[in-house]
Amino acid sequence: MQPVVTRFAPSPTGLLHLGSAYSALVAWTRAREAGGRFLLRIEDTDIRRCRREYETAILRDLKWLGLGWDGEVRRQSDHFSDYGRELDRLGDRGLVYPCFCSRAEIEREIAASASAPHDSLPGGSLPGGPLLGPDGPLYPGTCRHVAPAERKRRIAAGREFCMRLDSGRAAATAGSYDFVDERRGRIEGQPLLMGDFVIARKDTPTSYHLAVTVDDHLQGVTLVTRGEDILPSTHIHVLLQRLLGYATPLYAHHPLITDATGRRLAKRDKDLTVQSLRESGVGPAEVRRRALAAAGRQA
Ligand code: GLU
Repeated sequence: MQPVVTRFAPSPTGLLHLGSAYSALVAWTRAREAGGRFLLRIEDTDIRRCRREYETAILRDLKWLGLGWDGEVRRQSDHFSDYGRELDRLGDRGLVYPCFCSRAEIEREIAASASAPHDSLPGGSLPGGPLLGPDGPLYPGTCRHVAPAERKRRIAAGREFCMRLDSGRAAATAGSYDFVDERRGRIEGQPLLMGDFVIARKDTPTSYHLAVTVDDHLQGVTLVTRGEDILPSTHIHVLLQRLLGYATPLYAHHPLITDATGRRLAKRDKDLTVQSLRESGVGPAEVRRRALAAAGRQA
């Protein structure tokens, strides 16, 4: 049998709070129970929002909680060339395109498509109005139609651009697929769920979606445990796995823990950070117990 490899993959945009501690605890426990490996990955590709001091604090808090990891910590910003290489593989097959739209232009385009018939994505069209994804209206596909010569001209002229996946082509290339979530069973992949999502941002040769998919593959992760808020993204991570020829791990999306009033914990809840709990005299075993208890309320 394949050894179990799990990972905790925080973005260092704030301190570890009870919710993220729970996520780490789930991944750690699953690896330890199976005699497998628990990896730690710092997801800092959003270079404007991530801070080294948060990374240091996350490592310190995990150690204090007794959630030691195996091997080296992988910091994504040290591996941009890995993501760039995989992006090129998608590019060579015509599955990505440069997008020159500003946020304001996209919003205008979406507003316009609310009143006019629009260019629809295969299998994902609604009669009129913008296509909706889990986070709101999807990118309307404007730059998908820019001719290759014009793309070259804009790039040569120094226009800023991000890269997007051509989701229609990607879906046709990948064919139908599914994945397994332990709690929910087999789930049919929806390759168009996020439309032509950003696969590499303007300032980095990757986005969260590409980096997480490449890293889970390179690190040999067999069981991805993470919050159920990320479940919609799993549809496109598995799509990317299919396109890039990677194996698909098993998934276990867990409920997000909430406070006693049922409100979801967020990084702004300063009193529920591991650091503030420690400073107020709460011990590591008690923090772990509170994280599990809060999760028990959800299960
Ligand atoms: N970096 C993501 C976060 O902090 C987690 C991504 C994942 O576990 O796949 O929310």
